[in-house]
Amino acid sequence: MDYQQILENIYQSILPYAKEGKQADYIPELAKVNPDQFGMCIHTIYGEICSIEQADTRFSIQSISKVFALAMCLSIKGDDLWKKVGKEPSGTAFNSLIQLEVEKGVPRNPFINAGAIVMSDILLSHLDNPEEDFLAFVRAVSGDDTIDYNEAVATSERENGYLNAAIANLLKYHGTIDNDIESVLHFYFMMCSVEMSCRELSRAFLVFANHRRKFSYAGVELTASQVKRMNAIMQTCGFYDEAGEFAYLVGLPGKSGVGGGIVAIYPLQYSVAVWSPRLNSKGNSVMGIKALELLTTETKESIF
Ligand code: GLN
Repeated sequence: MDYQQILENIYQSILPYAKEGKQADYIPELAKVNPDQFGMCIHTIYGEICSIEQADTRFSIQSISKVFALAMCLSIKGDDLWKKVGKEPSGTAFNSLIQLEVEKGVPRNPFINAGAIVMSDILLSHLDNPEEDFLAFVRAVSGDDTIDYNEAVATSERENGYLNAAIANLLKYHGTIDNDIESVLHFYFMMCSVEMSCRELSRAFLVFANHRRKFSYAGVELTASQVKRMNAIMQTCGFYDEAGEFAYLVGLPGKSGVGGGIVAIYPLQYSVAVWSPRLNSKGNSVMGIKALELLTTETKESIF
């Protein structure tokens, strides 16, 4: 499969969508990002790497960080994690409060904000140095020690994070989180602020694409079955209230973030990351979804 040529063709085909959507501005620091950027990179499990455009520009990974948090929480708690958070698609926005109230403080899944705030609480309770340990894991799976938090983005979100604060309060009221709300939100915003490029993200997600390889990175250990199941959760819950549409259009497990990044996995074949800051109304990158739709259409490769 000539992925390089396919990526180049895809870029030409999606140019007409370059001005569709707008970048997230509810986090003021993200509103400063130039929206007219695009990058894409594939890492195959055989070592092939193909990239186009701004594949090396770092951006805010935002909710993509929730996949790293899930790997760490599963390694720490195993199936006990599912006592605190569900694994069903939500069909609601990433920052919705409605289900959380009705379902008495048990988030539908780990990839909506409520679920990730619960995972932040678990990591705070179990790790000696949660911020250092989270970064160490991300650096280990990426093979890059320069990956870091962006404190300005984390602070900007903290100062405007009224909805996330409401979610954390509801969780605390129902006894789902143990630590104090300030510390949990501080960690949550920090993990969302990590910056990575498409090249780094697709390299990092190779560890989830190849579940037959031993998973042991910076003290985080998962079984092949746990890695495979993480893919199942990415498939059903990775795109909030657009998970069905993404499955229909693209047909790969993946995860998006409001920084405009999307990572997707073709199990036992490749991991792909794409980034473009302009988002649709569901908070997912317009060009990113288009590019991935064309990738699985052109290659005739998807999990279906
Ligand atoms: N940090 C963002 C928030 O909590 C993450 C949301 C996202 O990427 N979908 O709102």
